Amino acid sequence: MADIIQLLPDHVANQIAAGEVVQRPASVVKELLENAIDADATSIQLLIKEAGKTLIQVSDNGKGMSETDARLSFERHATSKIKLAEDLFQLKTKGFRGEALASIAAIAHVDLKSKQEDTEVGTEIKINGTKVELQQPCVTPKGTVVSVKNLFFNIPARRNFLKSDAVELRHIIDEFQRVALAHPQIAFSLHHNGNELFQLPSSNHRQRIVNVFGGKTNEKLVPVEEETEILKVDGFVGKPEFAKRTKGEQFFFVNDRFIKSPYLNHAVTAAFEGLLKDKTYPSYFLYLTIDPKRIDINIHPTKTEIKFDDEHALYAILRSAIKHSLGQFNVAPVLDFDR
Ligand code: ADP
Ligand code: MG
Repeated sequence: MADIIQLLPDHVANQIAAGEVVQRPASVVKELLENAIDADATSIQLLIKEAGKTLIQVSDNGKGMSETDARLSFERHATSKIKLAEDLFQLKTKGFRGEALASIAAIAHVDLKSKQEDTEVGTEIKINGTKVELQQPCVTPKGTVVSVKNLFFNIPARRNFLKSDAVELRHIIDEFQRVALAHPQIAFSLHHNGNELFQLPSSNHRQRIVNVFGGKTNEKLVPVEEETEILKVDGFVGKPEFAKRTKGEQFFFVNDRFIKSPYLNHAVTAAFEGLLKDKTYPSYFLYLTIDPKRIDINIHPTKTEIKFDDEHALYAILRSAIKHSLGQFNVAPVLDFDR
């Protein structure tokens, strides 16, 4: 019998990985913004055309890449962020898989320009379906500009499944807001088809929330603060009287990373018990700091879900911290006369 098993060529493996990492333009936005943050940028610009279907460009003023690193960054499992399996338990960066650029380059036309502080000229690299088409010296400011054009050009099925520009843009704005809320000290901007949608100066958590959601948000926020051995909680919940009928502004960040957690969401809702009208949802912006050893982020490539060591304790601490804040700010129960 003949042997029939073969190793997949890199470009095929990359396309398969891309299917996991890149569901839509917003996934590219997330990966590129996170790379800019990991590069210690203090200012990040996002430029979008046609809801990301034709162009997604992220420019940062971070540490940039050398010529060799710029080339290597597109290889799969090529990362500067971890070296050992142990590092997975003390992650301080957003990225660590070394998959994003390789995946994106497998399904789009990518152009990257990068320059480090101490070099005269930068390097430009163009990739087309994982093939380096060109690398040349270029004039560019310190930092990195990644342009992703014609996403899914070689996967018609994915391209055809993209939703309307309005829907895809909504997803992009969601990702942008999550990242911007997690990193208030970094300046961000977002332009779509030449229109400025956000211009966020460097600030603190409260001011960033207000800059993202508008001036009226300020008076709605009740600060929440708690510090225990296993968890530090910081941030705000919205006053109950401003709770909405839609679950809109609900954000958990764990170690500056946006996460989804139905379980912790329940803890917040429980803290609001008796204060909310039926079928309304409080807004919250909660920043949790947990020892990285107690969490596992390595569950899914898009990393919005994480595992906690001691969920029950987190639940209890969070709930009581919010209850305490709501009590302190003299939030009276709602008298619901229409019931
Ligand atoms: P990961 O972020 O998981 O390491 P990526 O594929 O996203 O994997 O990036 C690969 C590598 O390319 C990173 O580890 C980093 O060294 C480099 N890199 C990517 N984007 C940037 C950037 N904006 N500035 C500096 N270096 C970058
Ligand atoms: Mg990355």
